[in-house]
Amino acid sequence: MRKRDLDEIRKKLMVERERILSNATKTMDNITNPNLDDLNDEGDVASSEASQTLNLRLRDREAMLLSKVDKTLKKIDDGLYGICESCGAEIHPQRLKARPVATLCIRCKQEQEKNEKGFAD
Ligand SMILES: [Zn+2]
Repeated sequence: MRKRDLDEIRKKLMVERERILSNATKTMDNITNPNLDDLNDEGDVASSEASQTLNLRLRDREAMLLSKVDKTLKKIDDGLYGICESCGAEIHPQRLKARPVATLCIRCKQEQEKNEKGFAD
């Protein structure tokens, strides 16, 4: 993959990362004036560190995505980006541009979808 493509993808990932983190911060702002009943439902959360709250709020789709983004950025740094985790083939740059966190080439992805219907990439 060309460096220019890599830079473009890295930039996309950074933007995505910012978006996820700023969403999490916004969620935290919303709970600076918390509804006490809600907090009582989650006893430990009320007294926990802000970072734990952040994790809790992020723990679902966004958290998964954030960890994928971080892993992907690390791969770029390590020079391992764009290699299919299943067969070791290069993932097509067009696919990576459309889906920067992809870890499988299109063939393996299709295989996986056949085998694990509904499995989220
Ligand atoms: Zn593959």
